[in-house]
Amino acid sequence: MSTHSNQYDIVIAGSGFTGAITALALHNCGLTVCLIEKGKHPRFAIGESSTPVADIILRSLSVQYDLPWLYDFSRYGSWQQSHPEIVCGIKRGFSYFKHHPGKQFSTDAGHTNELLVAASADDIMSDTNWLRADFDAFLVSKVKAYNIEYFDCTEITSARRSNRQWLFNINGPGNIPSIHSSFFIDATGSGILADKLFAAKSSAAGFLTNSFALFSHFDHLPRWTTLLEQNNIPTQDYPYDPDDSALHHVLDEGWVWALRFNNNRTSWGFALNGNDASFQKMKTTEIWDRMRATYPDIDHILKSGSLSPQPGRIIQTGRLQRKLEKCFGDGWLAMPHTIGFVDPLFSTGIAYSLAGIERIVQMLSENSNFDERLFEQLKEYEHITFEELKLIDILVAGCYATMQHFQLFNAWSMLYFTFTILYEQRRLKNQPVKYFLEADNQEVQKIVQTTYKDLLKLTAQRTISAKDADQFTSMVRERIKPFNTAGLLDPLSKNMYYHTVAAL
Ligand SMILES: Cc1cc2nc3c(=O)[nH]c(=O)nc-3n(C[C@H](O)[C@H](O)[C@H](O)COP(=O)(O)OP(=O)(O)OC[C@H]3O[C@@H](n4cnc5c(N)ncnc54)[C@H](O)[C@@H]3O)c2cc1C
Repeated sequence: MSTHSNQYDIVIAGSGFTGAITALALHNCGLTVCLIEKGKHPRFAIGESSTPVADIILRSLSVQYDLPWLYDFSRYGSWQQSHPEIVCGIKRGFSYFKHHPGKQFSTDAGHTNELLVAASADDIMSDTNWLRADFDAFLVSKVKAYNIEYFDCTEITSARRSNRQWLFNINGPGNIPSIHSSFFIDATGSGILADKLFAAKSSAAGFLTNSFALFSHFDHLPRWTTLLEQNNIPTQDYPYDPDDSALHHVLDEGWVWALRFNNNRTSWGFALNGNDASFQKMKTTEIWDRMRATYPDIDHILKSGSLSPQPGRIIQTGRLQRKLEKCFGDGWLAMPHTIGFVDPLFSTGIAYSLAGIERIVQMLSENSNFDERLFEQLKEYEHITFEELKLIDILVAGCYATMQHFQLFNAWSMLYFTFTILYEQRRLKNQPVKYFLEADNQEVQKIVQTTYKDLLKLTAQRTISAKDADQFTSMVRERIKPFNTAGLLDPLSKNMYYHTVAAL
């Protein structure tokens, strides 16, 4: 282990929750760590909705790496009890409401245009929407409290490796021109640094999904349930209040996420189909205004709130899909969200990142000499990470293909819910799991691939009849049957699922 300053076992770039938790866990494994952040906390960050799987992994990291205070953040109740000052929101499940252009939202007694999937039994046990500015800043305060070296407003300008040692030149207010380490972790959340330091290129090649996003944080947006009540839409069948969930408005051109925090702030964004050529020459405000003009309820909600001071503007992304051509090299690796991203649908990002932390901390703590064995494990890490991205991609692509046909969207999305519950159950039973979402399960892969082909055949038809949609739904129901412990697609449930919480 290294002893003198400016010399570390591991340098990590990027102090989002991924970089910070990795630094803390590796530190508690006895490694010397230096964390470098380009910006300064608290800072705005997107990507806020946790899931049951994310919470299971958070608890496991807390126990395994002796970070007891981390445990409380895995449920809304314990979070509120121990850290009410760190803003978050209740997330009871995933809710979807299908809107049609030019029309106010409407539905029927069978909840044809709604889908509510409960993920927790009550508010206390609930998942959370993380206000990342607060949560990430708190984690960094812990990094400092554990005496882990932390530099903010600092960037690595160049990296050189010789004799199994890195020499990083850095630029920041710390007056430290260079630091040394045996290993490097890129947790910067994009492929830019990996390209600069290691010439590892990031691209959208090979993705089925093609989407982009416009988003911000808003204050005092009215509650969706209030609007439903005003429009005489009954809500008594709902397993929970959809404002206390990851609320999705499904549109023909894409979808909206609305993630509420308990300080009257809401993370709100459009994720739109990048294959829709009409968006290509439009400016951010034009797209925003077009979506508002097309969907009256969306307009009503947005006009009643105001932009939050942070970030204080609407941000537009380019194509969201990206993947680095490699996940590691001599003396370095990249964390999952740095390696790649598909789309915010299904909120896979936090769980996927935490699963990566689990894998990486174990690998590096067991191989702190960073020798040949680590190289073999990194090859496997790359394979796993790429396979997981591929599975997330196809699950999300199927959703974009069905946004105009809500029954198909509903049926297809049950593949995600089935396999995430399966993965969750395996973890709760302490069964071995290697790939996020069972991406290594041949049966899962076969069902997803075959059903995707059937879906594309169907959506290529000029018209899709009610009979076609029923047949597709029945087919999905039959295919997921061996894994379906939550009664998904049971016609009696009428799209309201109370009991998806993993059953043991
Ligand atoms: C539009 C959108 C919506 C999303 N919604 C969800 C969701 O609802 N649920 C979910 O689970 N996931 C979501 N995600 C994914 C989620 O954002 C990521 O999983 C999460 O941000 C990963 O955290 P991170 O710490 O790895 O990276 P980041 O949060 O990106 O943090 C990276 C950090 O690195 C710093 N940095 C950047 N460059 C450098 C550099 N050169 N040197 C040093 N530091 C640097 C940055 O300032 C930042 O602090 C969403 C993503 C997008 C794009």
